[in-house]
Order: sequence, then C-alpha cells, then structure tokens
Amino acid sequence: MSLGWSRRAPVDTLVGTETAIDFSIPLSELPRVAHELATGDGEAKGRVRFSRQQGRAVADLEVSTQAEVICQRCMQPMHWPVNVNSRVALVSDYDAADRVPEEMEVFLVEGDSVSVRDLVDEEVMLALPNVPRHGEDSECARQEVQLPGQPDEPDDEPDTQKPFAQLGELLKRK
Ligand SMILES: [Zn+2]
Repeated sequence: MSLGWSRRAPVDTLVGTETAIDFSIPLSELPRVAHELATGDGEAKGRVRFSRQQGRAVADLEVSTQAEVICQRCMQPMHWPVNVNSRVALVSDYDAADRVPEEMEVFLVEGDSVSVRDLVDEEVMLALPNVPRHGEDSECARQEVQLPGQPDEPDDEPDTQKPFAQLGELLKRK
C-alpha cells in the first residue's frame, strides 16, 4: 500500500496492513512546528510503521531534522537538532489515552484517521524546547552580563531600537 505523508488514512487500515512509510517532509508543511521556527527551511526525514501491539494501534516513528528556533535571550536563530525515536499509541479518546503504558507516547486521533504529517508535526513539536536559549557558554549568555558598553554588533538595521540601551545608561549613572 502506497501512501503519501499528507494523506489521511483510517487507522484501522494502516494498522491492519502494517503500512510503513518513508517520508521527507518540508518543515514548512508541518503546521504547528512551522509556527515555532525562525525559518521553514529544512526537512523532517524518517520512517513510520503502523502495527497492532497487544491490541493497541501503534506507530513506530523515527524522525530527525535540524530545526531553526529563535533564542529567547538574544532573539537570534539557533539550530536545534531533533532526533525522535518513539512508539506512539494511536488513541481516539482520553480514556484510552489514560490506559497507555508510560513508555509510549500518545497521539489523539481525530475521526479515526491520521496522516503521517499529523504524527510528525506532533512528535517534532514535543521535541522542541519551550523556551529555546543558546547554551550558557555561548556568546549570547555572556552578553547578558555585559549590557553597558557592549560593542555594537554588525546589524543590518542600524536604526532598530535596542531595548536595553536605556538600562545600560541607568547602570552607568549609578
Ligand atoms: Zn541567544
């Protein structure tokens, strides 16, 4: 059975035929993920295989990508590698979700059908940080304690207001 990543198909069919799909999805095509990223460049690549395990519909999903998120300290883009390898239980209501063993992820299926896009969007979303920040040993972390007199970085928009410029002035006057 051949099926593109964007097509929704009934969970029963996917599971019953043990459908396996190799995919390569532009990040811009993942609705929730695209919303979190600095750019939609890049692709989520991987493989999903549907099956029934102990009476439960599951998707074994491998996906990796290089996401570009916005650092919430310096507001610059930063790379965030995503490597997901999970077994996802496909459930249709919250009661069923409660019974899923802890070691499995849960995906709430709407209307008994699912697309690979939906699954990948959800799993990559879970792998993204809530508040992305460059590491503590990075340029960005050091700049935080150097507000007054920090050298101007080359900037494409020299007229942008620097939100901390005034704070820097205040600290100097102390
Ligand atoms: Zn930063």
